[in-house]
Amino acid sequence: MQRSRANATKLVKILFNLEKTALPHLQDNMTSDRVLISEVGPRDGLQSVKQTMATAHKLRWIDALVASGLQEIEVASFVPAHLLPQMADAALVVQHARQYPHLTVMALVPNRKGAEAALKAGAQKLTIPVSASEAHSMANVRKTREAMVEEVRAIVQIRNDLAPHVKVEAGISTAFGCTLQGLVAEDDVVKLAAAVIEAGADESGLSDTTGMANPAQVRRLFKRVFAEIGNKTGAAHMHNTRGLGLANCLAAYDVGVRTFDSSLAGLGGCPYAPGASGNVVTEDLVFMLEAMGIQTGVSIPKLILASQALSDGLPGEPLYGMTPEAGLPKGWAHV
Ligand code: ZN
Repeated sequence: MQRSRANATKLVKILFNLEKTALPHLQDNMTSDRVLISEVGPRDGLQSVKQTMATAHKLRWIDALVASGLQEIEVASFVPAHLLPQMADAALVVQHARQYPHLTVMALVPNRKGAEAALKAGAQKLTIPVSASEAHSMANVRKTREAMVEEVRAIVQIRNDLAPHVKVEAGISTAFGCTLQGLVAEDDVVKLAAAVIEAGADESGLSDTTGMANPAQVRRLFKRVFAEIGNKTGAAHMHNTRGLGLANCLAAYDVGVRTFDSSLAGLGGCPYAPGASGNVVTEDLVFMLEAMGIQTGVSIPKLILASQALSDGLPGEPLYGMTPEAGLPKGWAHV
């Protein structure tokens, strides 16, 4: 599953050649629909690996991600540098990413202090992780679920004061199961989604933080969340820990989800499943959706180029993904 940098360079050449010989008529019978791919590699990916990517490399990588057509990137996490040295340059990274007019620059903020810093740096969308598992919530942010809902309320207030145009998303983490407490009650997830919206969040999505979800569960739970909060239902953040990442994304798509988090080259490997990637691989997700006639606006060959920039910044880090390995099929007619 892993591939080398030299291999990636070769693949880019192959992919671009294929692109030139693409046959546009292959698209004729496909349905037209559009989704938003929210790239989380620079945040979720980088904070999960041991190495720290140098700022200059990070900026070049983000430039390459933008060049692939991605319209939303979670570029940083605003947490104390002593906890996550990989994110010490968060403000600088946000400022750099703001140069792109068609990009929504997103930042993760676990608390009001982080929210203030992110807004001051110029973040255009904030995402707050709220655990459905009480055990995970205490371990991750040392707060109960109820206390996190109040944190969301406080962050919304800060947003209203400092930057009212900025959107606030509260992502329900461990929504499909938790490695600490095991089962997470679906009622708890739905109630929490309703609570964060009541607290003022603009949207709430579901995260399979631990890679435990299955498609039937994804369909059932997202349906319930849609019934509860309607069009405030946000992104599906799926992990590929047990190989079900894409199946889970498709299940979410089938019940109406139109925003998907994913990570270039699956960066953010899960330590509990060696050889399996953590986050859903952006290249594979874009391939699946585009092949189905669902528009992402993202170019796979250019994603592969961006994975070169990622490799340059994190030498030796394993890269995942089936599409970059296999190349695009003959006749591929997409961007
Ligand atoms: Zn993730």
